[in-house]
Amino acid sequence: MLITRITVGEVKVPLKVPFKTAMRSVRELHDLVLMVETDTGLKGYGEAAVTAVITGDLLDSMRAALALIAPRLLGRRLLDFNAILRSIHQTVLHHSSLKAALEIALYDLRAQQLGLPLYQLLGGGEPQIKTDITISINDVEVMVRDARRAVAAGFDCLKIKVGGRTWRDDVESVLAIERAVGPHVALCLDANQGWSPKQAVQVILALEKANVVLELVEQPVKAADLAGLKFVTDRTLTPIMADEAMFSVADALRILSSGSADIINIKLMKTAGISQALEVAHLTRQHHKTCMVGCMLEGVISVTAAAHLAVALDDVVTYIDLDGPQLCEGSAVAGGLVMDGPWIKLPDAPGLGITAVHGLTQIVVYET
Ligand code: MG
Repeated sequence: MLITRITVGEVKVPLKVPFKTAMRSVRELHDLVLMVETDTGLKGYGEAAVTAVITGDLLDSMRAALALIAPRLLGRRLLDFNAILRSIHQTVLHHSSLKAALEIALYDLRAQQLGLPLYQLLGGGEPQIKTDITISINDVEVMVRDARRAVAAGFDCLKIKVGGRTWRDDVESVLAIERAVGPHVALCLDANQGWSPKQAVQVILALEKANVVLELVEQPVKAADLAGLKFVTDRTLTPIMADEAMFSVADALRILSSGSADIINIKLMKTAGISQALEVAHLTRQHHKTCMVGCMLEGVISVTAAAHLAVALDDVVTYIDLDGPQLCEGSAVAGGLVMDGPWIKLPDAPGLGITAVHGLTQIVVYET
């Protein structure tokens, strides 16, 4: 089976409500979509999120990188899988989201070639998982309203965005949400690098003192401040998670070996795809820590790939944060995961189970 054509385009989907974190405010999903075709007629799908403020990836920069990588993949045998992955990763530095999209499409093809759903190719598991849902930063009343709506829709784990205001505002909104939804709803916080190390300790200790049980606090401090992350981890009882601080296997090794965080957040857009995500998970297991499989603001294709990964790594993945498609008003994709409230079910179809993408624009084709 030979790679004969690579098509790239863009897809836009409006969000139900604006997505607001300590770093950005977004009203629509606008992603890059890839299709990798073969001489057998099989077609693999991939998707790259544009999260410039975290990964540095822009639509134009990813397209420019693809123009370098695509000619090196055309005409290659899919059986030479590892060599093809090396070509992707060695042609340009960075561009982790574009590389993720290419890897997702290639893993999709490989699983289709073997007639297996992707999670079975990755090692098996139960193709049903439960995700949390994000509560954006807003005035307290709006956050409480959104939290109540999410719980009414069946979600029992909320990821509350914090870090964009004063630390007292953060404490107040978490306490208000906890009072509104009750003690049976699990609460995670994500500060998206919005606190200093001392502020982070102040907020977390204040909530611990108020008997608010937090599942975890995600990326309290700047991505590059590993010493600050360790400062927070060492001074609080609440589990601390590394997100923006962890892209590569080398990052994971630094964080795990220094005890800078308790949990590692794996996102395909950061790990540049599935191959390195698997290595990060294996490394985390070796350090007796656990992972979250999360997503950026992503659509059905890449979140379906992340769900397949999470299913296959169920021994080490203890948290699932794959709410991207839930935040969107509709989808441009046919097939893939099925969402029912917090439940994500994966189809039995080979590969990702994606059958079509509608409404692609700005299409460019590379072929042999
Ligand atoms: Mg995060």
